[in-house]
Amino acid sequence: HLDRIAAVDGQVNAFLHVAREAALANAALVDESIAAGTAPASPLAGVPLALKDVFTTMDMPTTCGSRILEGWRPPYDATVTTRLRAAGITILGKTNMDEFAMGSSTEYSAYGPTRNPWDTSRIPGGSGGGSAAALAAFEAPLAIGTDTGGSIRQPAAMTGTVGVKPTYGGVSRYGLVACASSLDQCGPCARTVLDAALLHEVIAGPDPLDSTSIDAPVPAVLEAVRRGADGDLRGLRVGVVRELGGEGYQAGVQSNFEAALRQLEKLGAEVVEVSAPHFQYGLPAYYLILPSEVSSNLARFDAMRYGLRVENGTSAEEVMAATREAGFGPEAKRRIMLGTYALSSGYYDAYYGQAQKVRTLISRDFATAFAQADVLVSPTAPTTAFPIGEKVDDPLAMYLNDLATIPTNLAGTAAMSVPSGLAAEDGLPTGLQIMAPALGEAVMYRVAAAYE
Ligand code: GLN
Repeated sequence: HLDRIAAVDGQVNAFLHVAREAALANAALVDESIAAGTAPASPLAGVPLALKDVFTTMDMPTTCGSRILEGWRPPYDATVTTRLRAAGITILGKTNMDEFAMGSSTEYSAYGPTRNPWDTSRIPGGSGGGSAAALAAFEAPLAIGTDTGGSIRQPAAMTGTVGVKPTYGGVSRYGLVACASSLDQCGPCARTVLDAALLHEVIAGPDPLDSTSIDAPVPAVLEAVRRGADGDLRGLRVGVVRELGGEGYQAGVQSNFEAALRQLEKLGAEVVEVSAPHFQYGLPAYYLILPSEVSSNLARFDAMRYGLRVENGTSAEEVMAATREAGFGPEAKRRIMLGTYALSSGYYDAYYGQAQKVRTLISRDFATAFAQADVLVSPTAPTTAFPIGEKVDDPLAMYLNDLATIPTNLAGTAAMSVPSGLAAEDGLPTGLQIMAPALGEAVMYRVAAAYE
């Protein structure tokens, strides 16, 4: 994999940092421990992995795709990092991302865009485009992403890979640099559903260092994949969300989705239509809640505590302003301003307060739908991968990528994307989104494994 990275990453730009020496040392250590009979129990011991550059790592930089963290060495490992290491997994390096995980194309990285291995003139999705592209370019067999509004699932759809957003709190966020704390969730990325399940079991589970992690047993996803592999979905109801699909979705995306429904029916599932009338308000609610949380979370990058400091001016305020001006890119600044505005006194109730109400209505829509179906399905993203540069100056067009993925984050439920073939008109990958109730990962993985 290190050789493959050396050969192709100049073109793909999936990695911001490659930890060659540490990776080789870990591989040697695992070999030795296997020989000595003391290898970690995980079947993934020694398997290489690409880690999104938003998790703290003591032995590697952590930039979050931003200049403002340039040169910062975290003094601690994220819980996900610790669990990967304990399983003997080899961390190959850190992957490119939109700055602080805000974006849908990886073009908002301060370190240049990642290119889609299927067509290097196109984006790989975002914000976790680096992790998804590393998988699709065979630079790594496993990766870790984070999903605040779709950043694991949409890149998976656009690169023909598998991406899982677990239930909120299913995987610890300790050491995951916060984007929007009430929406962020990390999860496994892989080329197969089985690989994703293996990785899921390594990273998931309660963590005393994250008060929002769920104190419950990890859903038995590996067992669910084994069960799903028999291809028998009789007795399961699959709900098609009426509001996610049709108008606004590319023809090839829609027809691959319809083919997926026929396939699920062939496997014995009963396909029913469900309605989620408030999903249409998900996007505007998300783009108030997320910037509000971001404007607060990014306040800590004040030139005093981390990374960059631009010594321009004599007062602390001047140094802070100069550093934030130089260190944040345009999308981060846009969201800080949006969030500051939405939270300001006099507007709080009209914007943030209303958005929180919408969030509750969306959770209720999910509850109603899950009373009628075991899982819900939709296309993961409205289009296939678009050309680099096409939407970078049009924030609203960029935000529309997340139409189908955002409701899950607002409700804190689980969802994943699995490859659903190539679109007829452009030959690019599309994804099927499978959504499940909170802690319903087992049935979600079962359906994914059967479908795959
Ligand atoms: N594309 C969405 C956004 O820009 C989602 C980001 C994410 O999931 N981290 O906010």
